[in-house]
Amino acid sequence: MHCPFCGTNDTKVTDSRLVAEGDQVRRRRQCVACGERFTTYETAELVMPRVIKGDGSREAFNEHKLRAGILRALEKRPVSAEAIEAGVQRIRQSLRARGDREIHARDIGEEVMYALRGLDQVAYIRFASVYRRFQDIDEFRAEIDRLAQEPNFLPDEPER
Ligand SMILES: [Zn+2]
Repeated sequence: MHCPFCGTNDTKVTDSRLVAEGDQVRRRRQCVACGERFTTYETAELVMPRVIKGDGSREAFNEHKLRAGILRALEKRPVSAEAIEAGVQRIRQSLRARGDREIHARDIGEEVMYALRGLDQVAYIRFASVYRRFQDIDEFRAEIDRLAQEPNFLPDEPER
């Protein structure tokens, strides 16, 4: 950690404690060069990355939109609300775990496809057909064939 007073890159931690009910670490530091003391706070960054759309514009991550897309694909399918919610949370965690401040909308689409694949085969095909915008029926059929050959097409638990 650089000293904010003299810029030297050698500072030592003199005290470290959890604050904000354990969600934050407060550190007292002292610069070994100039002797100045300062405090830093460390918090896990829980904000979702911003979304880069196809046209290059940016927008805030919208969980409502994400859930709506998943629900649309799962309409009238035998999947519990609990399983759907778990899927949404897994996607959020996965997007956050990348640690990027911005993420392409298509990467979110891939995450949704992956989640749906573990939830319901029909919903997955529905979503994939819209998302990948299959040009014609042959392309669509090729994708189904490709999937059918994957040994873990319908895993009980998503592997990741
Ligand atoms: Zn200093």
